[in-house]
Amino acid sequence: MSTLGTAGLPLRVAIVGSGPSGFYAAEALFKSGLNLSVDMFDRLPVPFGLVRGGVAPDHPKIKSVTRVYDKIAANPGYAFLGNVTIGRDLSVDELSRFYDCVIFASGAETDNRLGIPGEDLPGSHTATEFVGWYNGHPDYRDRVFDLSSEVAAVVGQGNVAMDVSRILAKTIDELRSTDIAEYALDALAESKVKEIHLIGRRGPVQAKFTLAEIKEFGELVACDPVIDPVSLQLDTASQAELDNPDNQHSQKNVAVLRAFAERAAPSKAKRFHIHFLESPVEIRGNGKVESLVLERNRLEGEPFKLRAVGTGEKHEMPCGLVFRSVGYRGVPIPGVPFDERKGRIPNDDGRIIIDGAPWAGHYAVGWIKRGPSGVIGTNKPDSQATAAALLADVPSLSPSPERDTNALLSLLRSRGVRPVSFADWQRIDAAEIERGKAKGKPREKFSRVEDMLALLDA
Ligand code: NAP
Repeated sequence: MSTLGTAGLPLRVAIVGSGPSGFYAAEALFKSGLNLSVDMFDRLPVPFGLVRGGVAPDHPKIKSVTRVYDKIAANPGYAFLGNVTIGRDLSVDELSRFYDCVIFASGAETDNRLGIPGEDLPGSHTATEFVGWYNGHPDYRDRVFDLSSEVAAVVGQGNVAMDVSRILAKTIDELRSTDIAEYALDALAESKVKEIHLIGRRGPVQAKFTLAEIKEFGELVACDPVIDPVSLQLDTASQAELDNPDNQHSQKNVAVLRAFAERAAPSKAKRFHIHFLESPVEIRGNGKVESLVLERNRLEGEPFKLRAVGTGEKHEMPCGLVFRSVGYRGVPIPGVPFDERKGRIPNDDGRIIIDGAPWAGHYAVGWIKRGPSGVIGTNKPDSQATAAALLADVPSLSPSPERDTNALLSLLRSRGVRPVSFADWQRIDAAEIERGKAKGKPREKFSRVEDMLALLDA
């Protein structure tokens, strides 16, 4: 009898999700030297997950990481099966019959909620919706954002909040030559937003945004950063955090914030107001957002474990738009265990835990494994760790009963699903680049699945 991972019985791996963590897992497996194939599924006809649908259009350098993924996809053992939703078009049980092991790399597709009154008023949006919209993601391309108000609030101080704020703050000329969706550019050209308020529940030392992202707000063509110097005064515990020699992240951020506070009075058309120690407690309005009620916080606890606690002191800030950017959450896949509290798949170093024990041959990587933290590169060691666990398990895995991807493709087609290969994606890619050329953009994305498929089947 042949052993899995040899020429007689190549290891068949399915990866569900084609974002960074999925590609880094594939890379680690190909580097193992085992004889194996990787079939990578995505519910969209296009690969790259958050690199395509999440990274801000004005950060093209970050997106250039897809060149690495192209190289991984060029491996003869790699296949892309786009436009296939696992848990709908194909059940997880069916998938497991075709593959010796399955890696879930499905990311964190939805948002945490604030849990405050008025959260769902028209004009109150999640960061996911806005980011997906300006990035041409098919799920969000039809969202409508009323940008006729002069005041917008962005809740949260992570890098996603910074992306959302920056897109609102930039001029059309600053965005025109990016791969931002054309309809978003048109809507932003009509935007009346002038005052952007970034609301942080903790202090300047605890802000999660990174140096490059905060610095950019000092360099925008038509927007000045505004900070009340009083809000940069630190309590004893925050000062201790800042003084820790290992805390360069906060030291650099605070230096930039202090320089912003010392600037001359703002003179540009738009202003980016940075608030600390304030939590939204209610969104008010008659049929739409008209104001945000903020409660003043103080910090409690040990350095590096400081929590925001409301003081009871509240004020109401008029605003017509609220973007909630308070972290992402994973979405459960039918047939896969899910920890509702943490918003991810329960796992032990990537091995999925089901009924208290490892689920043989089933693994998780990336944000659905560890939660929505870190930059794209963070996923590389994370995926390598899961791949190492999988490779260690290979001797104990049972070969799957079905071993022919063509039979799987036929099954999908019989269900009316049109799987999209990597070569198909390359045709979509080429067409998008061509569409962008006339506009001086790196690409003009197709933002509807039917348009992508129509191109392939024309
Ligand atoms: P994040 O970095 O975890 O930030 C979430 C923010 O929401 C924090 O400021 C957090 O405050 C705040 N928050 C959470 N619950 C809240 C509540 N109930 N009320 C008020 N504020 C609340 O998450 P993210 O911005 O979604 O980013 C996700 C990951 O992607 C991060 O690792 C980020 O660095 C990465 N990313 C990177 C880039 C880039 O490299 N350019 C761009 C985008 C995203 P606390 O600190 O108090 O919890």
